[in-house]
Amino acid sequence: MSHNTLNIEERKEPVLFTKHAKYFIRFLNVLPARLASHDCTRPTIAFYSVCGLDVLNSLHLLTPQMRKDIIEWIYTGLVEPYENEPCRGGFQGSRVKINSDDKQLLDSIRCYQWGHLAMTYTSICVLITLGDDLSRLNRQSIVDGVATNQRSDGSFSACINGCESDMRFVYCAAAICHLLDYWGNVDKDKMYSFIKDSIRYDYGVSQSGEGESHGGTTFCAIAALHLSGQLGRLDEKTLEGIKRWCLFRQIDGFQGRPNKPVDTCYSFWIGATLRILNAFTLTDYIENRKYILETQDTIVGGFSKWAQSSTDPFHTYFGICGLSFLEEPGLATVMPSLNIAMPAYKRLQQLHAQWRTNSTDDKYFNSTKEHESDTDTITSPLIKA
Ligand SMILES: [Zn+2]
Repeated sequence: MSHNTLNIEERKEPVLFTKHAKYFIRFLNVLPARLASHDCTRPTIAFYSVCGLDVLNSLHLLTPQMRKDIIEWIYTGLVEPYENEPCRGGFQGSRVKINSDDKQLLDSIRCYQWGHLAMTYTSICVLITLGDDLSRLNRQSIVDGVATNQRSDGSFSACINGCESDMRFVYCAAAICHLLDYWGNVDKDKMYSFIKDSIRYDYGVSQSGEGESHGGTTFCAIAALHLSGQLGRLDEKTLEGIKRWCLFRQIDGFQGRPNKPVDTCYSFWIGATLRILNAFTLTDYIENRKYILETQDTIVGGFSKWAQSSTDPFHTYFGICGLSFLEEPGLATVMPSLNIAMPAYKRLQQLHAQWRTNSTDDKYFNSTKEHESDTDTITSPLIKA
């Protein structure tokens, strides 16, 4: 049964906006000791916090100085390739720096400095959300870095040191290229083949090949096709099968795989996939909202994956996005495939228009060979809104 407009009675349990905003701001000020092991992926925590504040319509709670400080901190992770190493551009996770004049020492450290696709994607999202114009980015060098990480089967690994390659990084690659409005040497056709080959017999999508269908990787695959303008290449039967697989993941909230417990973040992963496929209104809004709010911490803010378990920025961000898909009053709309608030996405589109107009004198972009618009192929009414 569809319940796509919730009345006041059905929204009786309140979303504690102020507490969630304060929760995010705490993570921007200090990383709790229990999350110290996440220091090397800290841009992702900045992403959940900054973009979460945007979805909460609460970015004004960050002072102009704090916004500036976060932007400058993000840029400290930018790896700019030297002339003899063209393919390592992007953002890294760690901010560990060694100040030294010892060339041998600096060279040995350089071996460990390269862009990481997930850190690059989240760093650019933070910059655009905070109003940065991305003019300090060498877009071509970053996309060269992305293309270098593409494997012969069309998938991507996260970085040039040869880590695992799968659907997570296919998504990050597509998101980066879309954000920078440039696909360079990325082989979209091979990327499509990898995604197509990972659609399983039950129409969910696996990390790669014949793995198990999973809600997170299904989002990554469908969003990557959407961002690269290739969703229309899937036939109707396949698209209907994917919608069916996603709709069957709803119990009250959503599960990531058959026979698994529900978890708050899948209200985003499955919800966003269904939003992209224009099938979200077939879900049960009342049950979804009820589950997400069971995982809300009413004392200090934040959401957890299950009721009565610990909150974290990841589930807090995705819980709030899940509520945004339910059109919770007071929350910004979320652009489902890029996973940022719609106001930030609109600013990005304005930047793209400027870049296209000024492409000949763009000092960080000296190729005009590809300026096609993938946004033109986006069909979701949500995105056109
Ligand atoms: Zn989860």
